[in-house]
Amino acid sequence: MPKFEYAPAPESRSVVSLRESYGLFIDGAFTDTVDGRPFKTISPATEEVLAEVTEAGPSDVDRAVTAARKAYDQTWSRMPGTERAKYLFRVARLVQERSRELAVLESLDNGKPIKESRDVDIPLVAAHFFYHAGWADKLEFAGYGPSPRPIGVAGQVIPWNFPLLMLAWKIAPALACGNTVVLKPAETTPLTALAFAEICQQADLPPGVVNIVTGAGETGRALVEHPGIDKVAFTGSTEVGKQIARACRRTHKRNTLELGGKAANIVFEDAAMDQAVEGIVNGIFFNQGHVCCAGSRLLVQESVYDEVIASLRRRLSTLRLGDPLDKNTDVGAINSAAQLAKIRELSDVGEAEGAERWSPPCELPARGFWFPPTIFTGVTQAHRIAREEIFGPVLSVLTFRTPAEAVEKANNTPYGLSAGVWTEKGSLILWMASRLRAGVVWANTFNRFDPTSPFGGYKESGYGREGGRHGLEAYLDV
Ligand code: NDP
Repeated sequence: MPKFEYAPAPESRSVVSLRESYGLFIDGAFTDTVDGRPFKTISPATEEVLAEVTEAGPSDVDRAVTAARKAYDQTWSRMPGTERAKYLFRVARLVQERSRELAVLESLDNGKPIKESRDVDIPLVAAHFFYHAGWADKLEFAGYGPSPRPIGVAGQVIPWNFPLLMLAWKIAPALACGNTVVLKPAETTPLTALAFAEICQQADLPPGVVNIVTGAGETGRALVEHPGIDKVAFTGSTEVGKQIARACRRTHKRNTLELGGKAANIVFEDAAMDQAVEGIVNGIFFNQGHVCCAGSRLLVQESVYDEVIASLRRRLSTLRLGDPLDKNTDVGAINSAAQLAKIRELSDVGEAEGAERWSPPCELPARGFWFPPTIFTGVTQAHRIAREEIFGPVLSVLTFRTPAEAVEKANNTPYGLSAGVWTEKGSLILWMASRLRAGVVWANTFNRFDPTSPFGGYKESGYGREGGRHGLEAYLDV
């Protein structure tokens, strides 16, 4: 296959105007910290400082929770659903209007390719607000009783892999159901959440309905442990998820957790091979593999193993790694030095344990955090790279002979977030789907998201669902 050279096609940064420093968004306004301190957020692609933001202290969190409580009691929980819907529609439209700016900002702060932030993240953010705006005045038809009530103030903690999209997954259903929120974005990706705070102002959202407290793990801990929080929603690592579950149990808070994954992407011999190879690539190299539901374990039927590996290597050789703002870039930067160190460590362990490592020839930029797309073959179920979440562009390949063996291997994990099945046989898809212990099973596709479809896990992947009618339950007093 010829490999074309492309001229650089960078998206302009001029659509983004960053302030030098940002305060906290509390009670409808940006305010200075009381007991926090400033820290810098950088571009992982260049290590350039983008802006100074604030690590909120416990008093700041307290102010935010107080503002959210007041807004809940006095305004938002009393407002008819038809009125709440208008605000959510307005937010959705503002996200669309500012989509180019938000996409550039997301790629700058997170390192993901602009074609993903532009074509996946931001359109889905708007879709989540549109979808939940539609529910706001129809909650009595959601199947949770004739007049379902909101819960109160939600404390929401989100990770860095889909910063604005995870914000939308958390804030849109909470607001639609009549709750108010205090949200903490991840330490390394606070900028689009702060842009969202501006959107709340533009939409004239009543003060205190949405509060954004930037910071690190300690800010998150102060938020989830605050006695004024009624419900905690968390997406992130299983380790922190377990700590949060314990804290919530002690304080009788409701909680939903969306944690890690080690999804099996299962390719049968009769699958449409070109599509399956695209699906494998999308499954693990989308967003540099920083995806909780990434198809990080490829299970290939033995009879087509050689063919699949050869096609995969060919396809990987055409992936373009580099400047996240270049429209031709397929693989962007790793989000942080810490995450890069983790990916390197686990990849080294993979090699040390005897798996065979392969990456296409690929030049890594001198500055920033980068890791080449990598495939490990000869992986067994005992290898750490088959069991642990790497959260990077690293694929572990295993084989199977029969559908029963595929199911057994796929389910042999403490996680249970997603799975993929590639076959021409509809009956085999259904047979597999009913046996795979995963919250989402994709058939002949992978990494497809839709606000109407519930998402969530089994076992160590967490509990509760986000999206769809099922996702409303987490924000209603049912
Ligand atoms: P964390 O679980 O630490 O971070 C998720 C969010 O929780 C962040 O906002 C974080 O803040 C916050 N947080 C951290 N500690 C606490 C605490 N004690 N109480 C409340 N909130 C807290 O994930 P990491 O970013 O450290 O990533 C580590 C690993 O987790 C990754 O390598 C990956 O394997 C997995 N991961 C899984 C994700 C998923 O979607 N399932 C998403 C992200 C990571 P801060 O950012 O400041 O640390």
